Formats: sequence, C-alpha cells, structure tokens
Amino acid sequence: MKCPYCENEMISGKICSISRNSGLVWKDTEEQIRLNDEPKLVARINGDRISGYICKNCNKIIVDYFPCNK
Ligand SMILES: [Zn+2]
Repeated sequence: MKCPYCENEMISGKICSISRNSGLVWKDTEEQIRLNDEPKLVARINGDRISGYICKNCNKIIVDYFPCNK
C-alpha cells in the first residue's frame, strides 16, 4: 500500500496491547514502536491486535475497521 501523504511504500504490521504496562505498540518485522500508554484505553483493548500499515516517513498508521452494527 502506498502512503496517501507521501506515496512511500507502507509496511504492514499490527497494533497490539500486550500488557497493562506496555501501552499500545506498533509491531512489524523490524521493530516495536510505542504509540500510547493511557491506562484506561490499554486495559480495554488488552490482548487485541489490529492489522494495519505504517509510513515511517510521515509517522502515520492506517487501519481497517469492521462495522459491528451490520
Ligand atoms: Zn508517508
């Protein structure tokens, strides 16, 4: 996928919450990047993973979502 901001090729990976202390992290094959450590949000999504694409040029992440009211 091409970044809509800079048109660089984006890298696929996942947004994960692996423990209460780690916050939200981006993970791909190269590295792990901390996104956020707001405790209430981390507790709510603990254990989940969201697939997405990252642009390391503009520090943007794009994720899909699935409507839950269909
Ligand atoms: Zn970009």
